Amino acid sequence: MTGWRVFPLILVACWAGVAWGQVLPWRGGVARVDITPEQPIWLAGYAARSRQAEGSLHPLWAKALVLDDGHGNRFALVTLDLVGDNFGRQLSESIADAVARRTGIARSHLVLNFSHTHCGPVSRVTDGAKVTYPLDERQRALIAQYSKDVESKIVHAVQQAATTLQPVSIWFGTGRATFAANRRTYIRPNGPVDHSVPVLKVANEQGKAIAVVFGYACHATTLGPDCYQYNGDYPGFAQIALEQQLPGATAMFVAGCGGDINPAPRGTVELARQHGETLAQAVHDVLTGPMHPVRPPLRAAFRRVALPFVDPPTREELLARRGQGDRYDQRLTEVLLERFRRQGFLERSYPMPVHVIRFGTDLTLVALGGEVVVDYALRLKKDYPDLRLWVAAYCDEVFAYVPSERVLAEGGYEGGGAMRYFGWHGPFQPGIEQRILSAIDQMLKETAPDNRRAATRPAPAHSP
Ligand SMILES: [Zn+2]
Repeated sequence: MTGWRVFPLILVACWAGVAWGQVLPWRGGVARVDITPEQPIWLAGYAARSRQAEGSLHPLWAKALVLDDGHGNRFALVTLDLVGDNFGRQLSESIADAVARRTGIARSHLVLNFSHTHCGPVSRVTDGAKVTYPLDERQRALIAQYSKDVESKIVHAVQQAATTLQPVSIWFGTGRATFAANRRTYIRPNGPVDHSVPVLKVANEQGKAIAVVFGYACHATTLGPDCYQYNGDYPGFAQIALEQQLPGATAMFVAGCGGDINPAPRGTVELARQHGETLAQAVHDVLTGPMHPVRPPLRAAFRRVALPFVDPPTREELLARRGQGDRYDQRLTEVLLERFRRQGFLERSYPMPVHVIRFGTDLTLVALGGEVVVDYALRLKKDYPDLRLWVAAYCDEVFAYVPSERVLAEGGYEGGGAMRYFGWHGPFQPGIEQRILSAIDQMLKETAPDNRRAATRPAPAHSP
C-alpha cells in the first residue's frame, strides 16, 4: 500500500478511536487499605503451627475496584490477602449488607476474593477455626477485634473506590504460568492443572493502568507451617512486583480453581518471591501485547446453591464418640455438640455462593465460593467455548473444599478428608458437580446479552 492511501486510513482509525471511547462509557475507581493485624494473631491455613505470628514480610491488603457501565450498573471486586477459610458467611453477608447500604451496590454485584495465603491471620473464630487451631481466650479476643476491624476496612475501601470514579477503558487478555502442579499425586499422578493467567486492565483516559486484575489457579502455599510472618505468599509478591513496574496502578490477585493445586517447588520465601515474579512477568507479557476491549453492559446474577452433606450424626452418636480419634476429631465432636446446644440441629447442606458477572459479550466472570478444584474451570471452559470465561474460586467465603464428582469419588483430603477443619461432620453427597454446573448454566441464560442492544460476538484483540 502506498503512502497516500495509508493517510486517510489513519484518520479513519483516529475517528474510530474517538467513537470507541464514546461507546465505552465505563467509569472506574480503586482503593486499598492495609489489613495487616497490629497484634500477633494466630496464622491461618496450617493446623500444624505452634504459636502466633511474629511480625510481617510485607503488608497484607484489602483492595477494591468499582466499575460503572454508564447505565446504572456497578460492580465491586474486593481482593484480600487472607486465607478465607475462617472468614465465614456471617462476615461476608454483613459486609455485603453494609456495602449495599452505603454505595447502592447490590449483593449480586459484589465479589470478595481471598488469595488464600497461608500466612495471613485467622479472621474469625468459626467452628472450623475452633477445630483447626488451639486458640486460647486472648487469641479469641484478638481475632474478634480483628474481624470487626477488617469488616469496617473492607466496607470503607469499597465506599472510597465508589466515590473516586473516573472514565476508564477495560481490556482483557490471557497469559500463562507453569508453576502450578496438581497435588493429589498420592491418588493420581499427573492430575489436571489450569496454567492460564487471566488479566483485566482498567486504563484511564491517557491509557495508563489504574488497576490490573489477574488470576491464577494455585494454592498460596509456597511457604509452609514453619513461616510465622504475615505475608501474601506468591500472590503478595506478584502484586508488589506489578505495582513496582506500573506506578499508579493497583495490582489485584484473584484466586482461581486451585483447590487441588500447589506451587512447585515450595518451602522458602525466595521461592514465594520467585513464583510471584514469574506470575507478574506473565501478566506483564499480556499487558504489552494486543488485548480485547471489554464493552458494556454489565449484568450480574447471584445465588446460593445448596450442596447436601452426607447424613449428620445424631446427638447420641456424638456423645458416644466423645474423646475418640485424634485431637481434631475430638475438637470436631465438641464443636458439633455445641452447635446442637446452640441451634438444636446440624446442617444438612451448605449454601454455596455463585456469581455470574457478564461484561457485555466480551468477558464472563464466574465467581465461586469455596476451595473449588481445577476440574470446574476446565469443564466450564470446555462447555462454553464461545464465551470468554474467567472462573474464580475462593469468593465471598471459603466454607469447604468443593470437589468435582471425580475428586469426591476418589476421596482423599479435597474429596472429604478436610471437611473436619471447616467444622463439618462429613463429605458432600454425590451429584455436587451437576448441582453447581446446572446453577451456572441457568445464571448464564438469565444474564445473556440482549441481542437488540449489544453485539453478540466478543471483540477481537488489538493494542490498548
Ligand atoms: Zn486450601
